[in-house]
Amino acid sequence: MPGVFDRLAGQAEAVAELTAAATAARLRVPGQGWDESDARMVHAWLFTGPPGSGRSVAAMAFAAALQCEDPEVVGCGECRACHTVLAGTHADVHLLAPQGVNILLKDVKETIHRAASRPGTGRWQIVVVEEADRLTEQSGNALLKVVEEPPSRTVFLLCSPTTDPMDIMVTLRSRSRNVALRQPNAAAVEQALLVNGEIDPDMARWAASVSSGHVGRARWLATDEATRERREVVLKLPMVMHNPSRAFPLADQLVKTAEQEAIARNTESDEREVEELRTALGAGGTGKGTAAAGRGASGAVKELERAQKSRRTRSTRDSLDLALVDLAGFYRDALMASIGASDVSAVHADKAGEAARLGGHYPAASILKAIEAVQDCRRAIEVNVKPRFAVSAMVGAIRAALS
Ligand SMILES: [Zn+2]
Repeated sequence: MPGVFDRLAGQAEAVAELTAAATAARLRVPGQGWDESDARMVHAWLFTGPPGSGRSVAAMAFAAALQCEDPEVVGCGECRACHTVLAGTHADVHLLAPQGVNILLKDVKETIHRAASRPGTGRWQIVVVEEADRLTEQSGNALLKVVEEPPSRTVFLLCSPTTDPMDIMVTLRSRSRNVALRQPNAAAVEQALLVNGEIDPDMARWAASVSSGHVGRARWLATDEATRERREVVLKLPMVMHNPSRAFPLADQLVKTAEQEAIARNTESDEREVEELRTALGAGGTGKGTAAAGRGASGAVKELERAQKSRRTRSTRDSLDLALVDLAGFYRDALMASIGASDVSAVHADKAGEAARLGGHYPAASILKAIEAVQDCRRAIEVNVKPRFAVSAMVGAIRAALS
């Protein structure tokens, strides 16, 4: 079993900094936290980097290294603490995630409350905010309060695409130490996929070569047949774009596939949550007062179902966005072919022939318009335009650009 940082591809500097910090954190002052004069360790960390560079992987690996019980190796990857942190089941590591689009104030309050107590089994209470860019002003301010005056044994790990104020509050950013991750190259991605020995080397090499340095996408492609199929569907789209009776249905299929994927990914947790809530509320019982409890319960179940619907919507959008990034990558390859840039490595190495043919057929300016149409579609979906409409408008715009 490898160390906890091995899954972090091509980030040697960050790994060195985090290992030093976790080492410093081990020098505990009895009854308190670490020696606060040791500048290697701080209470709040901000992990930034492009999508797929491994922000949340870095945060979870650091959390594991901080809780690791191995006396010699920091973040051994073998002890119970390392295992439970990476599996998301460690009692002193709290994940703060968006419910639907945003991270809610009530979730921030609840998590802060739990993280303020003494660590149970671990050395520290650790709060991981995987998508800190989805904090609202209210929930961000609530978090800021405790980041400004953290309990001595509490650590905050925030992840955000950039340090831009659009992504993260200036005040939160200034209170945390930034670890900037870079886009890993294909070789580093391949290496990361091979760590557990669960992925076939040929598959790992292929997935790394078509993922543009996005480790998560490479992992999904390597391990999930449905993701590979969706990629095939989206990369077929440019080939049939000239034919409306094939392009529009294919675009619809893309949206439907994304929706089905979102349902498949969430169904199990949805059902479990409803079941837990019903049990907690005593619904389904037959004793006195069941009717009254039932009325209250149905309200709570409705609220949960609303939250779940919003999570599905977000899941659909995320999965569709990955498909659109693939599509933009294809047109980018075509553009490079069109302007004769032969020294740039292709986004989709396995579709380079098709991209080159398209690039030979259309002027660069037209292909650039097609890329813009894809980016417009991504933005439209981000601001809640119905995916079907946005994708169909995109197909129309690309057809116009390449007519
Ligand atoms: Zn360990």
